Amino acid sequence: MASTRVFQLATKLGLRSEALIAALEQMGVTGANPATTLDETTTTAVVQLLAEQATRAREEAEARAAAEPPAEEPAEVALAGEAVEAEEEIRSVPGARRGLEPVVGLNELERHIHELEQTEEAERHKAPVAETLREEARRRRGPRPATAVDGAPIVTILGHVDHGKTTLLDTLRNTAVAAGEHGGITQHIGASELERAGKRIVFIDTPGHKAFTAMRARGAEVTDIAVLIVAANDGVMPQTVEAIQHARAAHVPLIVAINKVDLPNANVERVKQQLLEHEVVPEEWGGQEIFVEISALTGQGLDQLLDTILLVAELEELWVDPEAEFTGVVIESSLDPTQGALASILVRSGSIKVGDVVVAGGAYGRVRRLRDWRGKSVKEMGPGRPVAVIGLSDVPRAGEIVRTAKDPKAARQMAEEFQEAERLGELRGVAEVQLQELYRGLHRGEVKPLNLVIKGDVSGTIQALETSLMQLSEELEEVEINLVSTGVGDVTESDIMLASASQAIVIGYNVEADEQVMRAAADEHIEVRLYSVIYEILEDIQKAALGMLEPIYEEQFIGRAQVLQLFKISRWGVVAGCRITDGRLQRGARIEVKRDGEIVFDGQLTSLRRLKDEVSTAEAPNECGVYAANFRGWAEGDVIEAYAQVEIERKRPTTDWRVSTPEESRT
Ligand code: GDP
Repeated sequence: MASTRVFQLATKLGLRSEALIAALEQMGVTGANPATTLDETTTTAVVQLLAEQATRAREEAEARAAAEPPAEEPAEVALAGEAVEAEEEIRSVPGARRGLEPVVGLNELERHIHELEQTEEAERHKAPVAETLREEARRRRGPRPATAVDGAPIVTILGHVDHGKTTLLDTLRNTAVAAGEHGGITQHIGASELERAGKRIVFIDTPGHKAFTAMRARGAEVTDIAVLIVAANDGVMPQTVEAIQHARAAHVPLIVAINKVDLPNANVERVKQQLLEHEVVPEEWGGQEIFVEISALTGQGLDQLLDTILLVAELEELWVDPEAEFTGVVIESSLDPTQGALASILVRSGSIKVGDVVVAGGAYGRVRRLRDWRGKSVKEMGPGRPVAVIGLSDVPRAGEIVRTAKDPKAARQMAEEFQEAERLGELRGVAEVQLQELYRGLHRGEVKPLNLVIKGDVSGTIQALETSLMQLSEELEEVEINLVSTGVGDVTESDIMLASASQAIVIGYNVEADEQVMRAAADEHIEVRLYSVIYEILEDIQKAALGMLEPIYEEQFIGRAQVLQLFKISRWGVVAGCRITDGRLQRGARIEVKRDGEIVFDGQLTSLRRLKDEVSTAEAPNECGVYAANFRGWAEGDVIEAYAQVEIERKRPTTDWRVSTPEESRT
């Protein structure tokens, strides 16, 4: 389930964690600290509560501003001269009048929520083009039209590196892709088709959840079924877990293929047990997922895998409509030296024909040629099938929607509209996007990825760098360094596109990036960093990674005070006049009030006052006034112990990166 931590949510709302915790307590959620994980329901509820409070606070402030300043109400019982001051102090706390604990930063929160509402409003009124595009990119889920026919399932293979994704695709296709995988551009069009028992299955050629998710990030939900491949000799690995999460996030049904069962050290039962921990439970154990044992290498079990895919597809009731207007989704694109922009698309509905004028995101053009997945020229391609389109003005990005236009002029206008919509989208900025995500109940995972595209002059250096990076990744528990790709040679535009799709930084070691590449990087908002000393790369990444880390909080004792005198204030209760004997007191801190060694109150310090001022902290040996909204039973002589969430400084990784690589020691 999507969840968020208190401090993450507070940051998003522009609040302090204590304020959020106070709001949670008002809802009856007690004992939360900044590191507490909140489920989706609680998150929604607390955001709603804060929004209501913010609105009320604003209305009250407006009402107050409109009215004459109210006359001072005399205190009913005043035990000391300071009583009136104390009362003022308490009334200055928003929320105190309603008997609620105050929530600081309401103005701030309200501003955020207001902005959020504006953004949502703007979204609704934005050029309809982007909205329609997103709609069309989704698989049709509405009622099946009379003209619809059964659709072939679109399958993506997910799993940990080396567990056999490429081999499985290879064997299924029975072609030699393996060489192509390393040799740059292949002749593939991004997907392949397979027939079994008269039914078609489409496999997306780029396996792995990164490509799968990059596509989804653009709003295109192409995959109908995910095959999770787990090597029986290796078991569940980190990317296996990620793949499960990504498939779950996409609400895509999962078929588990336990691979390499031909190996003597294959242990199928162990894989099943390990997957249990991630709530992937075989059907025979009462779960949802179908498990198939295969060997991608020998072909064992592959028929069963295909049958399972068809079975799941049948349950999903997939359909396509050949009679509908044409729409497609770009699944892969490249710039071919002889043919120009090449876009592999998946036809979603209707069909595409040679001579059609099409728009794909910001690219457009007349279809000069169509090629099927085998590379054969075709005149037309129907729904649910992949096809390569030649004739576009530009290289569209994976995940973009393809539509027809009535003529080139209209196409150009649509492409420009799209670019404009995109530009507006970019101007909205990261913070607002995050808030929107929050609003929709989407939350980031707990482990932050730092995605890197690495280019180097020789493979030896790249390997050395890879090893060091993986070591660094292990030391930084909450940051996962993902090498999106590594390769020899100068940084190219395709590296930039890759980085853009995977939200990565491009690192170059002893290589260059020409002007055109740097322009592409600027367009895509991709950072390209070039180095000639390897340890500088590691140092910089370490710094970047540390900067990305969420703070760790720990509750710590912060101070002690003794109650000297009580001030009873009409309606509000009691303020304890104290002397701080140790450390400090802090507004919002958790306090334990002790009398004869026994705790008589454990709760929040609502308000703190020094002389005439409301303060956030007060230190020993000063005197101060303490008010706790939930406690009135103070007695002189009580001891207050205060505890607060203190940010713990992170240990820097201990590795000394200044170990030169063979490359460097040569120079
Ligand atoms: P990917 O990284 O998931 O795409 O994994 P690959 O398909 O590149 O496979 C990694 C290695 O595992 C290659 O050396 C394959 O030959 C090997 N491999 C893949 N499937 C099998 C299998 O079923 N049995 C055995 N013995 N080896 C396999």
